[in-house]
Amino acid sequence: MLLAKRNLKLLNGLINHKRIANAYLFSGPIGSFLKKSAEYFVLGVNCTHFTDSPCYKCVNCETVSQKKAVDYYLLDIEGKIKIEKIREIQDFVKYGPAIANYLFVVINNVQNFTREAANAFLKTLEEPLKGVTFILLTHNEKDVLTTIKSRCQKIDLVSISNQELKGYLASKPKEETAAWLEKCLNDDFLLKCFLETDVLPELDEYITYDEFRALDKFSRLGYAHKLALYSKQQIELYFNLWLKSIFRKIEEVSVKDQENIEMIIENMAKLKYNINLKLNLESLFLKL
Ligand SMILES: [Zn+2]
Repeated sequence: MLLAKRNLKLLNGLINHKRIANAYLFSGPIGSFLKKSAEYFVLGVNCTHFTDSPCYKCVNCETVSQKKAVDYYLLDIEGKIKIEKIREIQDFVKYGPAIANYLFVVINNVQNFTREAANAFLKTLEEPLKGVTFILLTHNEKDVLTTIKSRCQKIDLVSISNQELKGYLASKPKEETAAWLEKCLNDDFLLKCFLETDVLPELDEYITYDEFRALDKFSRLGYAHKLALYSKQQIELYFNLWLKSIFRKIEEVSVKDQENIEMIIENMAKLKYNINLKLNLESLFLKL
């Protein structure tokens, strides 16, 4: 489980304590894995065989892990959280838990409530329902309304340390490490955490697409030579990161960016064949 040891200990303490609060506010910096922590807590409380960790086998564990649990609601959106969403949640919780001991509602980015939504949600917090627990998540605790904060038990989580992250990756076979990196590409939060903590030595050399575009001809060639020493898999990951960052600014993608997308994808396909890596990278990097 990729959670800081300190957080695991804290969460296990809460789970073993058995007196589950009506609402928690999980707050912590990037790399504290708030969503994962909330999921761990939900699993732990409802697991029928919890010892030092959830069993991941009982029906409660299985359904939560597969996102099919009837007693679990996750609201995870970017941007403002509007009142319609709160109404949906109020509707979801009104009969209490169906199967598990507790029904959990996890709300990410809780600092993003509109005023209307916050007021509606406060009412829900003021009239706790038996067996219903809210877990609110935020990286910006100071932006969460005081009235909401005061009704939650506050849980401060810490960021995972480089040491722990390295230990986690070192314990995995190489292919799994690559799979994990790939997962980073689909999760901005993980990606940011990953790039901020220079996990693999090779990643020290990683430069972003925009940084690359600002390089002159000679630096580009130098970069091609450096990358040519890496595994094809590693180079593919670099390209994936670049593509991801171009796609992210989709509204301001220039014609040049579009051409570059095609060239990068073309080159990724070439990686599968027995090509002269250095020559290929040189020629690509001068064109991008
Ligand atoms: Zn279980």
